[in-house]
Amino acid sequence: MIELRPEESTRIVVLSGAGLSAASGVPTFRDKGGLWEGHRVEEVATPGAWLKDRSLVRRFYDERRERIATVLPNPGHDALARLQTRWGPERVTLVTQNVDGLLTKAGAPEVIEMHGSIMHLRCEGSEEHPHIQVAGAQPKNKRCSVCKSLMRPDVVWFGEVPREADRVHDALANCTLFLAVGTSGRVYPAAGFVQLARSAGALCIEVNPKPSRGPFDHALSEPAENMLPELVGAWLNED
Ligand SMILES: [Zn+2]
Repeated sequence: MIELRPEESTRIVVLSGAGLSAASGVPTFRDKGGLWEGHRVEEVATPGAWLKDRSLVRRFYDERRERIATVLPNPGHDALARLQTRWGPERVTLVTQNVDGLLTKAGAPEVIEMHGSIMHLRCEGSEEHPHIQVAGAQPKNKRCSVCKSLMRPDVVWFGEVPREADRVHDALANCTLFLAVGTSGRVYPAAGFVQLARSAGALCIEVNPKPSRGPFDHALSEPAENMLPELVGAWLNED
């Protein structure tokens, strides 16, 4: 077990990827050869695809949203939510590549969703205009309350820039512990995150059933839903 002294100076950044949500049964849509209704996933998840055929892209996300609505957070999400609740978002920055909203569903107070959320819609004209929540299928002619442009899924598509990069960068440059969960530490973004955290002198831990052999101090080859409750339980002195 990795000992941490939870003194005031401990500042944690957790980056989570698909491996965190796998045990919840979140569909990746990549298992069947990466195709969806004969389209490569990349073809329905780009700004160009949206301009070319909005109803196709809407259906793709409606289907994912309807399936995600039926899944529940697993003990890995719950553990991260408890950690942030206890130590506060100032000390625990939760960054996720997942668009499933499960960390929020688990009760995490503040999640940086770098690839957006499938449970929200945004204005196709401006990311700054109000985002809205959506439960089931996206209403076809829903328009922005500010500029009347059509609303689109609030996810970061292939070719678009991830959210809140400055805030994530600041958190990494000031952290004492970096945890990569269920995402490969050798490819973007985790590979960049671990480099930044190392430069800041942080302890770097990877939780992944198949460790990536990236530059981590510890590689814990366990699924997130097993390992995170153990780690967080020890850090928070839970029974
Ligand atoms: Zn707008």
